[in-house]
Amino acid sequence: AKVNGRRQTCFYAPSMNRDLARKREIEAELRAAILKDELSVYFQPVVDLESGRIRGFEALVRWFHPTRGELMPDEFIPLAEETGVIVTLGNWITAQAAKAAARWPDDISLAVNLSPLQIKAPGAALGIINAIRQAGLDPSRLELEVTESLLLDDHDATENFIHDLSAIGIKFALDDFGTGYSSLSYVQKYPFSKIKIDRSFVSGPNVGRKTDAIIRAVAELGSKLGMDIVAEGVETIEQVRAVREAGCTLGQGYYFSRAVPDYAAAILLAHDAEE
Ligand code: C2E
Ligand code: CA
Ligand code: CA
Ligand code: CA
Repeated sequence: AKVNGRRQTCFYAPSMNRDLARKREIEAELRAAILKDELSVYFQPVVDLESGRIRGFEALVRWFHPTRGELMPDEFIPLAEETGVIVTLGNWITAQAAKAAARWPDDISLAVNLSPLQIKAPGAALGIINAIRQAGLDPSRLELEVTESLLLDDHDATENFIHDLSAIGIKFALDDFGTGYSSLSYVQKYPFSKIKIDRSFVSGPNVGRKTDAIIRAVAELGSKLGMDIVAEGVETIEQVRAVREAGCTLGQGYYFSRAVPDYAAAILLAHDAEE
């Protein structure tokens, strides 16, 4: 419940307390989940559309809750953000993912999603640097995925974060491109090495002549600026052909693989190396 004035505060107080209680409960559960090993980082391959080979993996968190079953990030990341747990959780995810990635071949990259709140927390850059240093992962193999909503509130902290980490070789990708407040000024302002086109342009009911034209325009922009363009959510061979033909360089989606545990990611890589 959103609360504006004093009178509404009174009116909504009981449900607010309930909301708050629920949030506190999940917050405590989330913190405990990290310690109890209920969380796990999965990896979804990002495939070179030209060669068909895996170029990297995106880390995606999963929560295996003892009573509620498998929870997807959309069900708990927003709460982790609201409660601030995302800072601890985000550093844990980066550390876990970096440990797995350090065992992959040197030319395979690791992408990790960053929440806006994580960037603004004190010591944010240090949390990431420590995670990769401890894992022994070269900074040039790490790519941080950020969304436009993060760049929207043009904070000095955001700018410093991106520039400091870029300076040591960490890469940045603009995630979910085409949703929300897409502004090309972000592409101009920040040193992105990748643009990830949101899956609503690639598969699903809205795909057609217009989305195809948009993908082509973004792909052309990418090729002129030397950026990889990733098509997210490719589910069929037809979609793979369409996005490759439109100029995307990389693809990610169920057609290639869902996100899998680290041992399965290693098997996918071994299979790639045999071909
Ligand atoms: P995202 O960063 O856009 O990640 C891609 C999402 O699309 C993943 O959902 C992935 O499983 C799903 N996906 C991939 N290929 C396909 C496909 O072909 N078809 C369909 N329908 N879906 C596909 P997931 O894992 O449920 O994650 C949802 C969102 O939660 C992510 O969207 C990201 O914003 C957030 N998230 C996930 N893991 C983390 C994390 O470690 N940290 C943070 N801050 N956010 C995370
Ligand atoms: Ca992402
Ligand atoms: Ca995305
Ligand atoms: Ca997303």
